[in-house]
Amino acid sequence: MNIRCLNKDFILNKFEELGLSKPTLASLAELGYTEPTEIQEQTIALILAGQDVLASAQTGSGKTAAYALPIIEKIGQPSRAKRTRALVLVPTRELALQVKGQFDLLGKHSQLRCIALYGGTGYGPQIKGLHRGADIIVATPGRLLDLVQQNIANLSSVEFVVFDEADRMMDMGFMPQVRNVVNHLKAVRQTLMFSATIDQRIARLGEEYLKSPAVIRAKEQRIDPAAIDQHIHHINEFGKDELLLNLVKDFGTGSVIVFTKTRRKATWVAERLRASNVLAEEIHGDISQNQRERTMHRYRNGQFTVLVATDIAARGLDIPSISHVVNYDLPQTASDYVHRIGRTGRAGKSGIAHTFVSEDQRYLVRDIERLVGRKLDLSTTAAVRPPSKRPSGGKRFGNRRRVV
Ligand code: ADP
Ligand code: MG
Repeated sequence: MNIRCLNKDFILNKFEELGLSKPTLASLAELGYTEPTEIQEQTIALILAGQDVLASAQTGSGKTAAYALPIIEKIGQPSRAKRTRALVLVPTRELALQVKGQFDLLGKHSQLRCIALYGGTGYGPQIKGLHRGADIIVATPGRLLDLVQQNIANLSSVEFVVFDEADRMMDMGFMPQVRNVVNHLKAVRQTLMFSATIDQRIARLGEEYLKSPAVIRAKEQRIDPAAIDQHIHHINEFGKDELLLNLVKDFGTGSVIVFTKTRRKATWVAERLRASNVLAEEIHGDISQNQRERTMHRYRNGQFTVLVATDIAARGLDIPSISHVVNYDLPQTASDYVHRIGRTGRAGKSGIAHTFVSEDQRYLVRDIERLVGRKLDLSTTAAVRPPSKRPSGGKRFGNRRRVV
């Protein structure tokens, strides 16, 4: 009899079925990844089986974990001989740091060492890191080549090679360096190529570097950023609650999701909204899985209007027609932004997103605009009407969620 229902085991099983081990499952549970994304579901088992893979999926669809998880599994133990077993090539320094961050989180329980190598910064710390030994190197091609040519980085033991954002590496003119790096790799290896799209150039590159690859195109078309009405508000921390309240009252009917950076903030914001008679509830990592699922059930049924969530808690959840997304805090990266706003505007519906930007975060908006391919509308906060009624203060309502 199948008695796996609504408990943690069930949640983890989808990843477990893909062949991931206990330490990796433990890392996933801590991260709050409840189920694999489409690209992860399609690639992880293949990669574990030793297959070369050429894969495309939209930005924000979880490509990093799609290769990081099986690579962590295949490496298993940290190398005592300080051999580097996996190499991930990425186009930019930011991406190198982001991907390293993911390896650190996903491989936490395997204790693998991952190092990021990129240009525009001193050699000292990177050289030290290499001397200490790295199971996994994530690098931009230029700096890596530099370190290889100086005999500081050694790629002779690399068994797993990933070209992440292969399309961007081509666009940015890195192919000569990439080719040079590949000349330092052994021929017997598993090679994976990830790209936002597979066009002719990528297909040709794949033919050159991959051995009878499985070609995967994840279909999930969650997000068309251009179809979403996007506004930004320059506002300081103190003004956010009031602005949010005004916006929510203006939205009228429809479901709203509000993203905050921290768990505490999520609880705070939900409490403030409830205090102003807005039906709001929160989900975040401190709330038990069962409780989160109950909340989601109520949200889907329209039993309350505003869901306040952290990124991690909202991921992997299939939330139906949301009319408005509010970024109470800016997300960490532009791709997280696209992921968040993709919660609205699904299935041909036009969605609306509002993003609060504090002074010190304005530079992040440029990254976002580059990714979504257009300038976002700046709403002046003054244009938002002052509240007709002042919020009644920190009064709590009876439906406060239990925090575990
Ligand atoms: P891509 O490389 O396809 O643009 P990323 O790998 O950067 O996407 O992932 C986008 C975001 O989704 C990241 O913040 C990541 O932590 C998150 N993420 C990835 N896989 C999952 C998952 N299975 N469940 C929840 N969140 C996930
Ligand atoms: Mg990526």
